[in-house]
Amino acid sequence: MINLYNLPPEGLRLNGTTERLALEGGVSLRDLTWSVFALASGGDVFLEVKGQAVWQGTCSRCLAPLDQPMAVESQFLGSKDADLVGRGSFTLGSQDLDVVFLPEDTLDETELVREQFELQAPMHPLCAEACKGLCPICGKNWNKGTCQCRPESEQAPSALNQALAKALAGIKLDPES
Ligand SMILES: [Zn+2]
Ligand SMILES: [Zn+2]
Repeated sequence: MINLYNLPPEGLRLNGTTERLALEGGVSLRDLTWSVFALASGGDVFLEVKGQAVWQGTCSRCLAPLDQPMAVESQFLGSKDADLVGRGSFTLGSQDLDVVFLPEDTLDETELVREQFELQAPMHPLCAEACKGLCPICGKNWNKGTCQCRPESEQAPSALNQALAKALAGIKLDPES
């Protein structure tokens, strides 16, 4: 726990390692190393969070298990001041910092680190840029070969287009009548 309003004048730095940390949606981090720096700034607190881990989830196209190295680095200002939080940003030196509402006097550093990884976790992770995904009909992983239903699904739209073209050809558009 960091006591936000009783920080040493030079700031407080905490480092840690966490073997495994669960994120939302069945995703987890492993081999996490992190550091948190907290420095009093007027009535507010400058916070810096840095971390590295292996993100463990699944490919968003083919659902194969996926490990991906991930790093976070973020700086912001924690404040109890509702006006300042409402303004959303604060300039400290040459830096424009987001302001985050921290109503409590203490802050759980591991929760702070977890939040940053949660925020910056990959939204649409892919096992490879060229991942072919799964067949929507039979569920076969197309990275491992094609299935029988693939040609049919490719024919379907063109058959539909032919029918549509035929139907349209039969309609005579005459805006004057
Ligand atoms: Zn994939
Ligand atoms: Zn298929």
